[in-house]
Amino acid sequence: MSSDNAAQDSGATDESVWDVVVVGAGPAGASAAYAAAVAGRRVLLLEKSELPRYKTCGGGIIGPSRDSLPPGFELPLRDRVHAVTFSLNGKLTRTRRAKQMLFGLINRAEFDASLVETAKDAGAHVRTGTTVSRVEQHGASVPDRRTVAVVLADGEIVLARAVIGADGSASRIGAHVGVKLDQVDLGLEAEIPVPPTVAEDWAGRVHIDWGPIPGSYGWVFPKGDTLTVGVISARGEGAGTKRYLEDFIARLGLAGFEPSVSSGHLTRCRADDSPLSRGRVIVCGDAAGLLEPWTREGISFALRSGRLAGEWAVRISEAQDAVDARRQALNYAFAIKAGLGVEMGVGRRMLTAFERRPGIMHAAVTSFRPAWHAFADITRGTTTLAEIVRTHPMARRALSAMDRPQPGNRAAGGRGGIRGGKRAEQPPAEHPGPRTENQPGTQAG
Ligand SMILES: Cc1cc2nc3c(=O)[nH]c(=O)nc-3n(C[C@H](O)[C@H](O)[C@H](O)COP(=O)(O)OP(=O)(O)OC[C@H]3O[C@@H](n4cnc5c(N)ncnc54)[C@H](O)[C@@H]3O)c2cc1C
Repeated sequence: MSSDNAAQDSGATDESVWDVVVVGAGPAGASAAYAAAVAGRRVLLLEKSELPRYKTCGGGIIGPSRDSLPPGFELPLRDRVHAVTFSLNGKLTRTRRAKQMLFGLINRAEFDASLVETAKDAGAHVRTGTTVSRVEQHGASVPDRRTVAVVLADGEIVLARAVIGADGSASRIGAHVGVKLDQVDLGLEAEIPVPPTVAEDWAGRVHIDWGPIPGSYGWVFPKGDTLTVGVISARGEGAGTKRYLEDFIARLGLAGFEPSVSSGHLTRCRADDSPLSRGRVIVCGDAAGLLEPWTREGISFALRSGRLAGEWAVRISEAQDAVDARRQALNYAFAIKAGLGVEMGVGRRMLTAFERRPGIMHAAVTSFRPAWHAFADITRGTTTLAEIVRTHPMARRALSAMDRPQPGNRAAGGRGGIRGGKRAEQPPAEHPGPRTENQPGTQAG
């Protein structure tokens, strides 16, 4: 997609101020732009890349993601998952199957570009190849207290009544808002084209391997003639994470196939008390650190928070003064905390339990029928982990027992400093080999 509406878009001729400007056209930004556009507002979506663009991601679409898509949106599914092979660092391999589809797999470039098209169809204007440098809410570029100046890399200034930061995990808008993080992980992925015989073997089946580094895991997500193979682990374990990916690929018998893309990307989870807004600027998706801490599933968080951000940005854009704008922004934060915030709280506890006792997690999901059913229900979106923990006393007791520190357990402190804040915001100690689309050293958030 090119900047097809650019001339018209940049002009904002009749009124020189957009109601809502959205920065970043991933699932969060496209969803936000769609929500504000269907409400009839003048919306501009700014994206630094040309679309479609590659994004390091497994492309797993669970039930809550499907449920948050714009009405009528056709998911460009590459595969439908009916079976999961689990292993514990390459051992104790077991495959579980389900008649009903568990979750879907998409190619992010296709999926994201289609979502942006949907936002455009709803009336949003889109400018690609446009990098936002910063936003200003005071000073010479800002004509009045109801307006935000969005400063582009070439110096152009775009004015808006409300701004949504959806610019991913290295978010500049997140830095403006002051988003605080308490968990940073590094994901490494390889897109591996395979011959038809290998592709057939993987059709409809994913592999999940609980990894050797506390809190790490690996996956194989098949997309027809290409397998997306990846691993994720706490940042600061770069060399070990890279070795884990190499070992995982070798164990799967895939080392002989040349990856078409090898990349890495950081994922970040917000601290519980982190802000979600500043003045007329709000953040969503990865830019807000909204991500499931255990699985690092983020598409549903991006779609859900993006939609809320679009809806609340409409109200912020209508606010006549700073007090009203703040009230609407706080309402947005409240909606996020009451939904996604609760899910993140349970996810953090699950990650702690998993870091301490990966073997128990593996045994549960492979050999204990209710745990497998819970996995299936969560991925299908008929329930959430938070709901299970809230409504099932046994699940609550099991989680409480597992996320309690064990004396003498090496992982008893969990990630300690990485979760604890300071280390999460330090520059990474090392960086693995593959190209990274999200150079940690350049992050602003
Ligand atoms: C290895 C890995 C595997 C993953 N697998 C899964 C999975 O299987 N399922 C799942 O649900 N989640 C997965 N995730 C998480 C998921 O990818 C993210 O949570 C999701 O992409 C967040 O969407 P977003 O719209 O917030 O951000 P992004 O998708 O990162 O989109 C941000 C957009 O903003 C643009 N942008 C950035 N800066 C600027 C700027 N200054 N100006 C203009 N535009 C800008 C970027 O180009 C990008 O298009 C995975 C993550 C990793 C790292």
